Amino acid sequence: MIPGPTPVPEKVLQALSKHPIGHRSKEFQKLVESTTKNLQWLHQTQNDVLTITGSGTAAMEAGIINTLSRGDKVICGENGKFGERWVKVAKEFGLEVIKIDSEWGTPLNPKQFKKILEEDKQKEIKAVILTHSETSTGVINDLETISSFIREHKTALSIIDCVTSLGACNVPVDEWQLDIVASGSQKGYMIPPGLSFISISQKAWEASEKSNLPKFYLDLKSYRKSLLNNSNPYTPAVNLVFALDEALKMMREEGLNNIFMRHNKHKLAMSNAIKALKLKLYADEKYLSPSITAIKTEEMDAEKFRKIIKDKFDILLAGGQDHLKGKIFRVGHLGYVNDRDIITVISAISNTLLYLGKISTEEAGQALLVASKYLEIN
Ligand SMILES: *Cc1c(COP(=O)(O)O)cnc(C)c1O
Repeated sequence: MIPGPTPVPEKVLQALSKHPIGHRSKEFQKLVESTTKNLQWLHQTQNDVLTITGSGTAAMEAGIINTLSRGDKVICGENGKFGERWVKVAKEFGLEVIKIDSEWGTPLNPKQFKKILEEDKQKEIKAVILTHSETSTGVINDLETISSFIREHKTALSIIDCVTSLGACNVPVDEWQLDIVASGSQKGYMIPPGLSFISISQKAWEASEKSNLPKFYLDLKSYRKSLLNNSNPYTPAVNLVFALDEALKMMREEGLNNIFMRHNKHKLAMSNAIKALKLKLYADEKYLSPSITAIKTEEMDAEKFRKIIKDKFDILLAGGQDHLKGKIFRVGHLGYVNDRDIITVISAISNTLLYLGKISTEEAGQALLVASKYLEIN
């Protein structure tokens, strides 16, 4: 139960194990056509959605290098490990970064975006780059509000990492007019790692005409050109596309709202059970990510705690990154996760706390009762 790679359904595994087919065949073109349509459905957009062979970082890097030019001024939101990564990428490509940050565990403040964007009368800011669900801390940023300020600025593009929000909570790309949205197969898509997805607005395509940053494999114009023919510029990960087709069909069967509601109830069951166990949430409770719950262990070593859970229950939880190593652990509840998984992981955490003498049997039982209430199974 880490926030990626996430569990893969049997049907998707079976699709993966098929013999690869020619990527220039009619059969493969049909797959590209259907997966592209379903990706647009998932993104709630009419924009182009391109599939790239590479992890989520490839899609984010592609978004940046296809729309911007050396020396361009951009705002980067940074309140965790992934926000930090986008600052590094932007600087690596010679962009001038205005950083808006906040303490890890707290959300970015939309008013800071508003202020800087409103003061930019010369329209020097070319893009706003940020992470929607910050996987390292379990915080979700208020993208709806921040994107409204980007729209008011009119010229700046939004380049958004939705790797652990897309397919978990509502990200209406057209309604919020998001220009670039990046995501990855091993997160909400229920597919192994290896593919990433990027949706691109008309405004972003216009910006791409002026972009002078170097690119070849990630030049999105070549992907767009190939897509007109339901094809790819280079050999794609054919078997992962089989898997994608199957996973997207499963998502369509479940329906967008059901998917969002399932993630929401798992988030509520996890976070409230954690509180019943007298542990503290790392993230601001009003901004909990639908996909990851980060938990403080205070005087307990989080790495030892994780090891006990792995050894006793064979459940892998994620640790803290950088300065949070040993201080927090993270439970991923993203993608192919059901009520049983949530009840099981809560039981494993309660049992371990009981075993360590941290809680009473009543408190252990209370956590399950609280979780059952949110799962609506009692
Ligand atoms: C997993 C993840 C990524 C992508 O990381 P890759 O290892 O390149 O797939 C980007 N952003 C967030 C928020 C993530 O959780």
